[in-house]
Amino acid sequence: MLFESIYIGAYCIVLTAVLGLCMGSFLNCLAWRMTHGESIMRGRSHCVDCGHPLAARDLVPVISWLVSRGRCRYCGKHVSVRYPLTEIICACGYVSILLAYGLSAETIELIAFFSVLLVLSLTDLDDYVIPNATIVAAIVIRLVYLVYGGLTGAFDLWPTLGWTLLNGVVVAVPVIILALVMDRVLGRDSLGGGDVKLLFVAGLYFGWQQCLFLLIVACIIGILFAFVGARSDMTDKVEGGEEKASRPIPFGPAIAIACWIVMLVGSRAVEWYLGLFGI
Ligand SMILES: [Zn+2]
Repeated sequence: MLFESIYIGAYCIVLTAVLGLCMGSFLNCLAWRMTHGESIMRGRSHCVDCGHPLAARDLVPVISWLVSRGRCRYCGKHVSVRYPLTEIICACGYVSILLAYGLSAETIELIAFFSVLLVLSLTDLDDYVIPNATIVAAIVIRLVYLVYGGLTGAFDLWPTLGWTLLNGVVVAVPVIILALVMDRVLGRDSLGGGDVKLLFVAGLYFGWQQCLFLLIVACIIGILFAFVGARSDMTDKVEGGEEKASRPIPFGPAIAIACWIVMLVGSRAVEWYLGLFGI
């Protein structure tokens, strides 16, 4: 059983969900400040339209947005549904990881990694950029977990560090080669540098076997995004009546969602497909 009793389980789930909602709100703000060049340490949260500082009652995750019916209390401008949506996704992510890994150091590590994935997905959606700070944060989180595991005797530190680094390289190098070939064939950039760095990080966390599965899932999600994006571009053209340059589809969020899926089912999926080949 994952938790000692059903009450402790329910308590942990509610607590994690509330933490996820609050962190979702904070990470949304963090991502916005990163793409708008604002300091992430200083300054109060404010409306992105009128700049009015937000009071505590404006910062309650999801509830504030629902109560104000998706509008700023000060200027009346529409507040994107992205804000409550990100908070709900963050809560779902945290709780799903807790349910998959229980009360463990791995849960803390993966919740922290999930938070980083959420931020870089938002910055990639907004500005087509995966900030290096998010890549560094993900590497530091992995390193802290491995050092903790090494110090508590869960595994041998140095061999595990070596294998982890090797996995990152084994995943990233073929992706770089593939991207360079695709660039020549298509005559344009096929994969951004940030995407390659993110796949290197995925290699550090999940190892190359699970990353094969991750790449397949990321490609399927990327194709779905491209399909939805192409359809909305077509509707824009019909409604607007004039040609609009179609937006390229950022691949970072697809990789991030694939990472989340691998966290939850990765090892079972690898066992399953290796089983298909009798391995
Ligand atoms: Zn406002």
